Amino acid sequence: MTQKDAVELCEVGPRDGFQFEHTTIPTDFKIEMIHGLVEAGLPRIQVTSFVHPERVSQMADAETVVAALLSRKIQKEVIFSGLCLNVRGVQRAADAGLEYVDLSIATNEMHGQENVEMSVEESVLEASAMVEEAHRLGLKAQLGLQTVFGYESAGDTSLDEVVLVSERFARMGIESLSLADTTGMANPRMIREIVSAVQQVIGAVPIVLHLHDTRGLGLANILAAWELGVSRFDASLGGLGGCPFIAGATGNVATEDVAYLFEEMGVETGIDISGVASCSRRLSRLLARDLTGKMYRLA
Ligand code: ZN
Repeated sequence: MTQKDAVELCEVGPRDGFQFEHTTIPTDFKIEMIHGLVEAGLPRIQVTSFVHPERVSQMADAETVVAALLSRKIQKEVIFSGLCLNVRGVQRAADAGLEYVDLSIATNEMHGQENVEMSVEESVLEASAMVEEAHRLGLKAQLGLQTVFGYESAGDTSLDEVVLVSERFARMGIESLSLADTTGMANPRMIREIVSAVQQVIGAVPIVLHLHDTRGLGLANILAAWELGVSRFDASLGGLGGCPFIAGATGNVATEDVAYLFEEMGVETGIDISGVASCSRRLSRLLARDLTGKMYRLA
C-alpha cells in the first residue's frame, strides 16, 4: 500500500473525551465547541454517544446536541456521527437525524466479560444486528473493534479473531473499520503486523485507527500506520479523554498534534491547527486544568 498525501482526521473529543469528565459539560458549550471544530476544518466529528443516560450521564443530551448541530446551516462539508453500542442506540441516532453511526464491540474475551458481560461471539452477533439495523434505516456504519492491540497486556487479543471479525463485517458492507487501541498497548511493530493482516482481508473498506496515547506511543503508531497506507485517524482536541480501565491514563492522541505531524511532513489534513488549539484552550479553562496535548500550548 502506498502512503497517502492527504489524511482525514475524525474528532472524537466531544464523545471519547467528554464522557470521562466528572464535571457536567453544559450542552451549549458542547455545541459551541463542535462548531469551533467545524470552523477549524475537521472533516468528521463524532459528536455524541447514544448510550443509556444512566450509564454515561454526560451523554444524556445526545438528541439535543444533534438537533442543534443539524438546525444550524453549516457551510463546510462535515460528517457528524454518533457512537452506538446496541440496536436501540442505532435507532436513536437515526431518529435524531444522523446519517453516520459508529458501532463498537469487544474483541478481547476478558475485556468483553468485564466491560459488557458478553463473550466476543455475543458481541459479534450484537454488532451484526446493529449493522443490519443501520443499513435498514439508510445509515452508513463504521464498525470499531476495541482493544485490538491488547487489553491487560500488549498482544493479549487474538489476532486470528480480529482478522475473522474484520473480514466478516467488511462483507456486510460497513463504511469503514476502526481498530482501537483502547488501553494504549500498541507499538509501531504491532501496528505493522496487525494492520497489514487486516488490510489483506477487508478489500476496499478503509481502516480507521483509534489510538489512545496512554504510554506516549500515539504519534509513532500513527506514523507506522500511515506508512502502510492508512489515511484515517481518530483524535481528540487537546488530547482529551482517558481510559476506563487505567486510572490516571491520558486520552486520545491530540488532534492539533496529529495535524502538526502530518502538515510538517507535507501531508494535507485541511485542519487549521490554531483553530483547534483555541478550542482546546477554552476547554482547558472550563475544566480548570491543563490538557495533555502539546500544540495547544504554543498556538
Ligand atoms: Zn477511545
